[in-house]
Amino acid sequence: MDKVIFLDRDGVINIEKDYLYKIEDFEFIDGVFSSLQDLQKRGFKFVIITNQSGIGRGYYTLEQYNILTSWMKEQFQQQGIDIVEVYCCPHSPDESCECRKPNIGMIEQASKILNIDYPNSWLIGDKSSDIQTAINANIQNTIQVRSGHQFDESKSKANYIVDSIKDIVNIIKE
Ligand SMILES: [Zn+2]
Repeated sequence: MDKVIFLDRDGVINIEKDYLYKIEDFEFIDGVFSSLQDLQKRGFKFVIITNQSGIGRGYYTLEQYNILTSWMKEQFQQQGIDIVEVYCCPHSPDESCECRKPNIGMIEQASKILNIDYPNSWLIGDKSSDIQTAINANIQNTIQVRSGHQFDESKSKANYIVDSIKDIVNIIKE
């Protein structure tokens, strides 16, 4: 079975900027490559799940998003990191789709190409909606990072709260 780490993108992998779509504005968060290299050696697979309502709202196009995504995947590849798939929800909240987190559509899509080992899989996010996605999809291991949007730690439903993706290697043991 596949031990999967589901990663939100903005605020987890790269510095959160509103409606980011340009390569020159994309800044990897410190430690992302070393963390994922370490976890890949330990047998984890990576899937990125990202809400991109900027597409539905007309701030940027799916094509512009795809260009950034190809570039990002290439940066991971150059570091020896294989991202199995990057799923995005392009819809705006009022479209009531099944893929916008906290709905689980993107995890359901991943379950078609991976044999997800749910008890040993993880979700890493910066927003409560990310953590809620994991709960809705029956992924019990969750980490909320402080590197993205601010959140009320006393109300967090995550199992762990850490500063950034740099710290997840110390939490994910097996
Ligand atoms: Zn959607």
